[in-house]
Amino acid sequence: MQYRKLVKAGADVSVLGYGCMRLPVKSGRIDEELTERQMLYAFEQGVNYFDTAYPYHGGKSEVVLGKIIRKNNLRDKVYIADKLPAFLVNKAEQIEKYFDTQLERLDTDYIDYYLMHMLDSMKSWEQLKSLGILTFIEEKKKKGQIRHIGFSFHGRPEAFIKILEDYNWEFCQIQFNYLDEYNQAGLAGLKRANELGIGVVVMEPLRGGNLAAKAPDKVKLKFSEYNEKRTPAHWALRWIWNHEEVGVVLSGMNVDEHIRENIEVASETTAGSMSDREIEIVDDVKAIYRDLMKVPCTGCNYCMPCPFGVDIPGTFMDYNDKFFFGGRQSQIQYIGKSIGALGMKKSGADLCTDCGKCEKHCPQTIEIRKELKLAHKELDSWPIRTAIKVANRFVGRRA
Ligand code: SF4
Ligand code: SF4
Repeated sequence: MQYRKLVKAGADVSVLGYGCMRLPVKSGRIDEELTERQMLYAFEQGVNYFDTAYPYHGGKSEVVLGKIIRKNNLRDKVYIADKLPAFLVNKAEQIEKYFDTQLERLDTDYIDYYLMHMLDSMKSWEQLKSLGILTFIEEKKKKGQIRHIGFSFHGRPEAFIKILEDYNWEFCQIQFNYLDEYNQAGLAGLKRANELGIGVVVMEPLRGGNLAAKAPDKVKLKFSEYNEKRTPAHWALRWIWNHEEVGVVLSGMNVDEHIRENIEVASETTAGSMSDREIEIVDDVKAIYRDLMKVPCTGCNYCMPCPFGVDIPGTFMDYNDKFFFGGRQSQIQYIGKSIGALGMKKSGADLCTDCGKCEKHCPQTIEIRKELKLAHKELDSWPIRTAIKVANRFVGRRA
């Protein structure tokens, strides 16, 4: 295993972090026996960063992680990352309440890396500030209950930079992979964080598994041209660790073979180690994905902001994903945004009023209004919509 410093004065953390959002499940519950075996294997191979959050597995991810750490006397050997469910906080007293619940669930006195979960705009960060988060952070750090402070982000590139520059963050967590080089925080965000000395944790390195086994056949064929046999997941992870600015890469692990492979790639990939030939192959793969695109949106954001709140590039990304990868994930993502689940601002294509302002700015000359309608028709689904509404209510009640 290789280690990098995530925060300036912090400890060395393993470049592979154990994401606890997709633990193995049996009969609808976390399979604790298998989870323990897999986590201990990863720990023995050098993984020392474990990432969880309040809503993962309906709150049970924190509980199971805490139990395994306590049972195996690992508390001083591993680093726990956990997150304040910022999207559920609308009263000052809830901040302390959520934090106490998390310490209790994790069966610990402190959290090593604590994040504001899923900030998506300055508004979401300003709201936390208005509820006293800065005093809370200061006090908890003074008491040693929070060791390092950061935020996780899903939003527009410009919002990321604003939040990044607004506070003395020690680290942040962003979605980053070879298909999201220009989406969300993107490469520009990664570089800016690095300039400011803010550590970066990468999430969704495989886009929820879509860049792994679900990769289209054309992509697999392209990768097979290389003289060494590698899986698409290996390529995707290697591409990320090739960036020296990346601290930890989180992988939501639940299959033995994947854990072994992730550890292998994490152990052998150093920053800047990809050859020109390897980079060329990944560039070709990106081009293949571009060819499969329904809408040739590059995520440049020139069309934004929409005065009516439509997330134009985000909608097109979900629309394209449906054709790249199939399955329901892109629909779940889109519908979540369109109904404003988990406190997110509503931003679906159904908000479009046909004003046409955006189209004047698109360098790809995309007929945005027409494509948004098609995207909404393709992505919307009442059973998924109903399921998300019910799940959203359930998460909201657990405050
Ligand atoms: S046409 Fe629709 S998406 Fe474009 S700016 Fe107007 S409301 Fe927004
Ligand atoms: S301006 Fe065009 S290419 Fe750029 S994000 Fe908007 S729709 Fe996509």
